[in-house]
Amino acid sequence: MNWYDIIDIERYGDLMNRNEARAKTIDILLGDQNPNADFYASLFEKYNYGDSEMTPISPAKMGNVNINNNVVITEEAYKELIKIRNITRQTNQEVAFLIFGEEKPNGTVWLDTVISTYQPSARTSASFDSINGVLNKYVRDIEAGEYNNGNKQIICHGHTHGTSPVSDNFSFGDLISYVEFNNTHPLFKNRQVETMAMLMPPSGDFNFLLYENNPQYEGFYTFPTVYLRHQDGTAEELPAYQNGNYLINTNTYGTR
Ligand SMILES: [Zn+2]
Repeated sequence: MNWYDIIDIERYGDLMNRNEARAKTIDILLGDQNPNADFYASLFEKYNYGDSEMTPISPAKMGNVNINNNVVITEEAYKELIKIRNITRQTNQEVAFLIFGEEKPNGTVWLDTVISTYQPSARTSASFDSINGVLNKYVRDIEAGEYNNGNKQIICHGHTHGTSPVSDNFSFGDLISYVEFNNTHPLFKNRQVETMAMLMPPSGDFNFLLYENNPQYEGFYTFPTVYLRHQDGTAEELPAYQNGNYLINTNTYGTR
């Protein structure tokens, strides 16, 4: 299942539909401008399970975001993420969630609020009982200037994957959903609010992804550096794109 099926934001005006997002994603992965197009084509050939949206898309050959864009997860948010990951480990069910935060002036991606389908958290008011309600209220509050502190607000769309031989990777459908999400609101598309995606795969990595929609650099970029910031101010690095089976050597398929 794709997280877009679980979370849906109100649509605003004449924006990209799923078919268009799919065509865009295919172009990014397989277009002539992508030097790794053959690698992605090989994934579609080897791992097509009948539904091409389930095709695993390895992050291994994606470029990195700007070196200043370290991700910092607060301890409170981290604890919520661990609860979510444990639900998936116990049930093998995917869980969708949102992480809200902001980009600091030095480029740090500061993530401090997790809202999930299993349990809303701190920023949720009682009148919003769904993740969609929380998301839409957050966007309206941003539009109303409630977060006007000079820092760009960030909405990260996350989900977990249960265990399969390839589920450490994003799926093709995940990337389509992210492109589609980036086009659901003018604030997102114009990058006045940054959107990100995140996957917590079975390997335990914390994998954040940026869809750069500037045509000059258009593509998917990974965040190689992720920190957990403890309440006492100390920081600890979390694994990102390190421990999973990212299908670089596709001969290892099925041997995990
Ligand atoms: Zn997925």
